[in-house]
Amino acid sequence: TISTEAYRRRHEITVLGGDVPAPFTSFETAGFLSEIVGEVLKAGFSAPTPIQAQSWPIALQGRDIVAVAKTGSGKTLGYLIPGFIRLKNCRNDPRMGPTVLVLSPTRELATQIQDEVVKFGKSSRISCTCLYGGAPKGPQLRDLDRGVDIVVATPGRLNDILEMRRVSLSQVSYLVLDEADRMLDMGFEPQIRKIVKEVPARRQTLMFTATWPKEVRKIAADLLVKPVQVNIGNVDE
Ligand code: ADP
Ligand code: MG
Repeated sequence: TISTEAYRRRHEITVLGGDVPAPFTSFETAGFLSEIVGEVLKAGFSAPTPIQAQSWPIALQGRDIVAVAKTGSGKTLGYLIPGFIRLKNCRNDPRMGPTVLVLSPTRELATQIQDEVVKFGKSSRISCTCLYGGAPKGPQLRDLDRGVDIVVATPGRLNDILEMRRVSLSQVSYLVLDEADRMLDMGFEPQIRKIVKEVPARRQTLMFTATWPKEVRKIAADLLVKPVQVNIGNVDE
């Protein structure tokens, strides 16, 4: 087995924060529920990517996290798998509203995230819906009425549905801001702030981003509590 220091150096992982746990360098050390490990092996994955290896143990401690890694580094499962475990440990009645909320900048990305939930969460019987604009609200509202564990949403459409009072975020305990840099570039900051006001303060907040510019730091400072930061490679500012 390889030391934490050596693993971090080899994969250009830097961490900021107190008492950061050692990375999970293999799926076995991750000790995930067997059904989740079964799904990743079935997908042909041999090991966690560096952002997954370092983010999982932090997220499983319940801590807020900022994860900065370029596109294609496996960030989606970096936040989804600890979210699945949250659902396993505290299953609310999904008709009261989702437990996990993922905000994403575009319909296309939101749909890809939902596909990963379906693929890797199927054996854990996790239900998910995707809320995005440019499509009729009817089917989205019907999914919400039926009840879902995870909502993946673009900020604009989720705000519309919140204003209609057709979804409650009062059960959300795991909030993810995915592609935070792109969401801010697209002008979603006011909507994000409105949405977060509807999520209980007692929550875990995870921010995943490809870059770490000033605007993203500012919203992270406002919405996260004592986050641990994980960077892979050089972080452009
Ligand atoms: P990002 O959000 O960082 O751009 P994604 O989460 O979209 O990256 O992942 C990129 C691709 O890598 C996806 O096709 C995903 O299924 C795959 N992937 C995720 N985790 C692993 C892994 N541990 N091993 C191999 N491939 C992986
Ligand atoms: Mg991504």
